[in-house]
Amino acid sequence: MSTVSIVKCDSYDQDILDEKVKEACISASMPNASGKTVLLKPNILSDAKQDKCITTNPAVVRAMIHLLKEQGAKEILVGDSPGLQGPSFSAKNCGIAQLCKDEQVRWVDFTKNPQTHIIPFTHGRKLQLASVLETVDLVISLPKFKTHQLMYTTGATKNLFGLVPGLYKSPCHVLYPTRESFASLIVGILATVKPAFALMDGIMGMEGAGPANGIQRKVGYLLASKDLIALDYSQAQIMGYDPMTIPIVKEGIKRDLGNCPPTYPLLDASDLVIKDFLRLEQQEKTKFFGSLVAPFLPRKFKKQQAVRDRQAPTFLPDPCIQCKRCVEICPVEALSLVDKHIEIDTSLCVRCYCCHEICPANAISIEHAK
Ligand code: SF4
Ligand code: SF4
Repeated sequence: MSTVSIVKCDSYDQDILDEKVKEACISASMPNASGKTVLLKPNILSDAKQDKCITTNPAVVRAMIHLLKEQGAKEILVGDSPGLQGPSFSAKNCGIAQLCKDEQVRWVDFTKNPQTHIIPFTHGRKLQLASVLETVDLVISLPKFKTHQLMYTTGATKNLFGLVPGLYKSPCHVLYPTRESFASLIVGILATVKPAFALMDGIMGMEGAGPANGIQRKVGYLLASKDLIALDYSQAQIMGYDPMTIPIVKEGIKRDLGNCPPTYPLLDASDLVIKDFLRLEQQEKTKFFGSLVAPFLPRKFKKQQAVRDRQAPTFLPDPCIQCKRCVEICPVEALSLVDKHIEIDTSLCVRCYCCHEICPANAISIEHAK
């Protein structure tokens, strides 16, 4: 049985946080880092300012660094690689670059010499992952408590997708277009990376249209576990989802990589459900028409149908600042800037929502949260 430790914490005050992070990690039996090289992987999606609640708060990363130093870690590394970022990326806006400087820990460029891995559960497909994985003893995921347009939640396991350097991520959405196939990829990365531990920043979270354009929400918890799927199960429960409807959680349990439901030595996730949390509307795997004829259709057609069942993004002309970041990240070249408006070819769009994640102006709308 896996353990998830949940600690109440309402503040990013460093002294309080150091204490609470230690309590959560010890209670969840975090592996001792003495003499080890440790990679910390916060969620730095789009390197936004802290108050937007898109990225893991630097105070949580700092508290983990303090704990690892106390344990006698040999070296602590920090890194992430958001979608459009190249080798010069250093997480300045979210405060993590400064934190690395203050704590004298090394920021790692994931785009340098990535290594090819054959990813389990993907029919032998290959994927580039950060080469630093070959040199570290422990990987610790430091996710943010957030919703996600495509996968409903983003958590400890999905956070590992940032180990795929920069633009290597985009083609994954073409190769794995359905929620189920994308969950297989993410769980395959989990099986490849074998992270030792996860600590989730759930002090301030995001509800509604996450992971980048949702609404900041005070949640008030830190979650810690050696079992990343179990931690994501607990997050889903607190958000008010049935955790088994979260594709990554379901896939992780199916592949024997998550032991759920977990036990709770401190607070129990089932007592912490936020009843009015703005969840994303969940879609049946197959719609009515598909359910009648699906058994008789070729697999490729079923995948295409599953993608078309999702809503394509709508581009709002007023807030758009014509930065073209959506055009650059779209993996299928479905977008173009025409007469100061973004136009979409919905026949090409694979509904990956990368454009929505990267848009700095909240100028893209997808589906309504409920
Ligand atoms: S238009 Fe947006 S949702 Fe559609 S494929 Fe391109 S990036 Fe993905
Ligand atoms: S990313 Fe957003 S603001 Fe930039 S061009 Fe696209 S829709 Fe407009």
